[in-house]
Amino acid sequence: TQAFDAAAVRADFPILQQEVNGHPLIYLDNAATTQKPNAVIDAITDYYRNDNANVHRGAHALSDRATQKFEAAREAVAAFLNSPSSRQVIWVRGVTEAVNLVANTWGRSELREGDRVLLPYLEHHSDIVPWQMVCAETGSSVEPIPVLESGDIDLDALDSMLDERVKMVALNHVSNALGTVNPVQQIIGKAKAVGAKVFIDGAQAVAHWPLDVQALGCDFYAFSGHKLFGPTGIGALWGREELLDAMPPFLGGGEMIETVSFSGTTFNTLPFKFEAGTPNIAGVIGLGAAIDYVQSLDRAAAAAHEQDLLEYTLALAADIDGLSRVGHPREAVGIYSFLLAGCHPSDVGMLLDQQGIAVRTGHHCAQPLMAHYGVPGTARASYTIYNTREDVDALMAGIRKAKALFG
Ligand code: PMP
Repeated sequence: TQAFDAAAVRADFPILQQEVNGHPLIYLDNAATTQKPNAVIDAITDYYRNDNANVHRGAHALSDRATQKFEAAREAVAAFLNSPSSRQVIWVRGVTEAVNLVANTWGRSELREGDRVLLPYLEHHSDIVPWQMVCAETGSSVEPIPVLESGDIDLDALDSMLDERVKMVALNHVSNALGTVNPVQQIIGKAKAVGAKVFIDGAQAVAHWPLDVQALGCDFYAFSGHKLFGPTGIGALWGREELLDAMPPFLGGGEMIETVSFSGTTFNTLPFKFEAGTPNIAGVIGLGAAIDYVQSLDRAAAAAHEQDLLEYTLALAADIDGLSRVGHPREAVGIYSFLLAGCHPSDVGMLLDQQGIAVRTGHHCAQPLMAHYGVPGTARASYTIYNTREDVDALMAGIRKAKALFG
């Protein structure tokens, strides 16, 4: 019996009550983006129906209300991350923009010729490419940290790579391609011992357990709202206050300034220094509602439920010849990355879609990792709070059907 009531949670998500290709929708692409509960959809429409105005500017009631909701969401994110202060929470479009912000501000001002930036082979392209771009300009290098066959980071290899030229270690908290839960606390300790900064990409972690940036001891932490039942186009970058204070601005424009004249401009204080222009106000408010929604759940029971789905998947998969999991990390969230012998992942995806089952196929924006396994891509089912064992049964039936057609 399951303590967590996934069926009740499912009822909060209107999009899930539909049929696709004549079958009830089974949405197993949660690592790409999660669906949105009524609470989030309502918060966004309520904002546009009743409060829409620009923030921090107007001397009128709507602007006051919009600003209050906007800043309340920042407080909610600060509490969600256990940040010492909401000044350390910067609104960004998502993890991609967060990495670009840090690479272009901290990276451009701190990286020197010969400096090293270390990233595991597990990384998402958004954690790799911005560092490559900045390192190419600063004469520093991006070096991959080896990953074991299991999909775990090779910590011994990391130890042998760390020296005082390493200025940044950037990695995801959880791999989107394999579900690996990285031992971030341990890695942060190792990086700190040589004086490196650490950027943690929490894109795949936020929806799974409570986070605590102070306990982790990282320098930067970022997540995307859309992977946490919130809207697309909004996320948060958290940083240590002294680092954020010392970093130059990223984008220039309104809101991020204190005074502007043609003889020189001075910049606003945190967090506004990094928030040029009119922000995604509705997105911020929607993200605030998503955080309230998530906090209303029993998160330990939700995590146990997702683990049960993964274990149930692995047990059923063992009975299907030719079905194999890519990677077998020591610890993983509810992500099942798989291959079906004789059937290309994109064909698996298409055949599952015909049965109303949504999975992701391809390289998962992790081409170096796919090269490590010598595969062009995988099919990936990713679970969250509204998935059930019946969804897993449907996935396995779908895989059997695909196998019968191709086998
Ligand atoms: N990192 C990881 C681990 C991800 O899964 C994703 C999204 N697939 C990203 C970064 C990028 O997030 P976004 O596209 O929301 O900026």
